[in-house]
Amino acid sequence: MAKCKKLVLVNPSPLRTGLSVSPNSRFSPLGLAIVASLTPDNWEVELVDENFETFSFRDADLVGITAFSSAAKRAYEIASIYRAHRVPVVMGGIHASVCPDEALQFVDAVVIGEVESVWHNVLDDVASGGLKSIYRGSGEQLHNLKTPRRTMLNPGYKFASIQTSRGCPMDCDFCSVTEFNGRRYRRRPPEQVLNELETIPQELLFFVDDNIVGYGPHDRQQALELFQGMASRGLNKRWLCQASLNVADDEVLLESAYQAGCRMIFVGLEAEVDEALAGVNKRLNLSRSASAYSGAFDRIHKAGIAVLGAFIFGLDSDTPEKLYRRTEYMINSGVDAMQGTVLTPLPGTRVFRQLREENRLLHTNFPDDWDRYNMTEVVFQPKNMSVGELTHVLRDCGRRMYDLRVLKEKAGRTLKATGHADSTLFAWQANLSYRTIALAESTYSGSVLDARTFSPSATDCLPITV
Ligand code: SF4
Repeated sequence: MAKCKKLVLVNPSPLRTGLSVSPNSRFSPLGLAIVASLTPDNWEVELVDENFETFSFRDADLVGITAFSSAAKRAYEIASIYRAHRVPVVMGGIHASVCPDEALQFVDAVVIGEVESVWHNVLDDVASGGLKSIYRGSGEQLHNLKTPRRTMLNPGYKFASIQTSRGCPMDCDFCSVTEFNGRRYRRRPPEQVLNELETIPQELLFFVDDNIVGYGPHDRQQALELFQGMASRGLNKRWLCQASLNVADDEVLLESAYQAGCRMIFVGLEAEVDEALAGVNKRLNLSRSASAYSGAFDRIHKAGIAVLGAFIFGLDSDTPEKLYRRTEYMINSGVDAMQGTVLTPLPGTRVFRQLREENRLLHTNFPDDWDRYNMTEVVFQPKNMSVGELTHVLRDCGRRMYDLRVLKEKAGRTLKATGHADSTLFAWQANLSYRTIALAESTYSGSVLDARTFSPSATDCLPITV
């Protein structure tokens, strides 16, 4: 019998990583579990997850690594260790897909796009000694996807992750989803998702889709089948998903989502005024802003579900006064959990290209500077204020927004609006995670914070009192 080869998969995590400072806002590397599921049995597979353990060298015949941009430098450090031992390294994921030339300075091969259609070629080429530099995955239909090998993922993750769709037609200026997964929105058949859900032991789930309900009547019907199937199979999950604001257009769909266990929906609102939304091509929210948002929040609440509203600070039309107003809007609106991040020009986006052309990127010593592109550090010259001013406003707004009195008051309103303690708890815990991130930013500014050992202070863990 042929000797087993060994594949080591690595999820790199740099020391200080913006949003991932809070343990509760780190999500499992589902992509690596997918790669493991595509790897035949004659390969032994080990997964090293730096969210839980610092990488140390172990023997391998092949290394697979993935990274968001903020972790790219760390990924290259680990890759370089293996290349020094003449072990081939393949990199995939969003960063390598949009910066393949950079990645190829540190790794032997890059998988661009979705991995399913090309992983067997990578393994065959490794076996024959003919590894190529680039493998281009096709954005194919999502029928008959393999079930990710979740047993490889660290049990310390609070939420199990699952994906039901890929692709987004909206192509917002600051987002790289359309570049990576394409404009065509593709769904997995509900039956296959339900079968996969039955293999997941955890009660808490995160649907990682960018928009779980999609964009048309067919998508809506499939989402409905999924939610109804979850309820009728008695899966007993409680979950968080992401959706565009159109999720609030359909009360039947929202009601079934709640019955299936949905407790909070992450909605990319970005801003409360049309001027800011138009500036980043957030078409779906245009003309729905501010007053129209509140009708959407009401409908989501009526179904018993909390709203996690994500907002961007530092858009070209923003001034300090407008950002203070945005903060007050976040606090006083029907948003239950508040995410405020700084505009981050991620590679592969129009915002990145625009700011580079306008010479407004402040840190371009790549790959070293990628770890600054973490959604909390200002890495570009804002249009209507200095970098120092925007940084100061961000800290001020974070302190105001995540003040425990504000959060408790918000939790009281969420409980009243949704009528459900567990939806309120979802929102409360999300706010505490964002509070941890805001505290880390203001307390540890300029120093290196080890995301693996940082834990919130005791006051962050106050029990909910609503
Ligand atoms: S921000 Fe959301 S709607 Fe816009 S392109 Fe990205 S995934 Fe699509």
